[in-house]
This record gives sequence, structure tokens and C-alpha cells, in this order.
Amino acid sequence: MEKILISACLLGRPVRYDGKGKPLHHPVIARWMAEGRLIGFCPEQSGGLPTPRPPAEIESGMNGDDVLEGRARVLEVTGRDVTAEFIAGAEKTVAVAKAQHCRFALLIDGSPSCGSGFIYDGSFSGVRHSGEGVTVALLRRAGIAVYADREIDALVAHLDGAAGSAS
Ligand code: SF4
Repeated sequence: MEKILISACLLGRPVRYDGKGKPLHHPVIARWMAEGRLIGFCPEQSGGLPTPRPPAEIESGMNGDDVLEGRARVLEVTGRDVTAEFIAGAEKTVAVAKAQHCRFALLIDGSPSCGSGFIYDGSFSGVRHSGEGVTVALLRRAGIAVYADREIDALVAHLDGAAGSAS
């Protein structure tokens, strides 16, 4: 049975920068929970950042890959450089995913860690751009398929369709 890495905040855990969760309300979540398939994890907390914490964005409209390659930093709105914490969190997330044999991840979009379809541009003015967070970039390098929270139906369809008895 496939295990799925999931953003801890999507399970309602109060790990977001604002000290809140953002529970994903979908019938399959309860089923997957009961089946023990969900591996909840928060990259930013695991990287050593406190909760609550100031919001952070990847600078200059760059992406998670740019952070991993040293071309961009992750900065809090205060100007504090939290690049090292974000990379540490990404590495721990990949380690957990591998240890749990996760081939799929369901992560909340828009986050500088967990975003897979869009992130914010570093101006802290609400401007989005297509791109991915630091953890997603590292998960994808490890061959783990990342689905955004709004793509949960596609993940369900993929698991049910591709795996059949293994779903
Ligand atoms: Fe949620 Fe990911 Fe942000 Fe942690 S790093 S609060 S799991 S979106």
C-alpha cells in the first residue's frame, strides 16, 4: 500500500508560520489516515524554525532549485536569511520520504517549501509566479512525484488507476 508524504499543516497540525494549520477537507484523507498511509511532515519546523515565525519567500522571483544551487536565498519578511534552515528542512523531508518508501507527496501549494505549482516572488506583496519551493525541488530530484493540495483528486485517480490492488 502506497504511503503518501503530506504537509503536516494539511492534516490540521498548527505548524504554519502563523501558528495555524490548514486542514484539507476531502473524504479520502480520513480513509488514508485510518489506513496509516499518511506521513505528515513540516519541512520548516524540521529545519529548525520556530512556530509561529515570520513569513518567508524565495528572493527575486527565483525557485527552489535556485536555492539548492546557491543562486538565491530564502528571506523572512524581516530580512533574516533562513536559507540554511529551508535546505536542512528539505533534506530531512527527503530522508523521511525515503525511509517511509513514499513515491508520492501531497503538499500545500504556494509555500516557499511545499509549493509545487506556484510560489511568491520575494516581494512580500502577494505576487505569485509559477514555480516550486525548496523542499519540492529536492523531492523531485529524488524522484518523488509531488501533487499540490488542489490536485488530490488526480493523486487518488493515479493511485487507484495505476496500482489497482496496491492502492
Ligand atoms: Fe505546511 Fe509545508 Fe509550511 Fe510546514 S513548510 S507549514 S508543512 S506548507
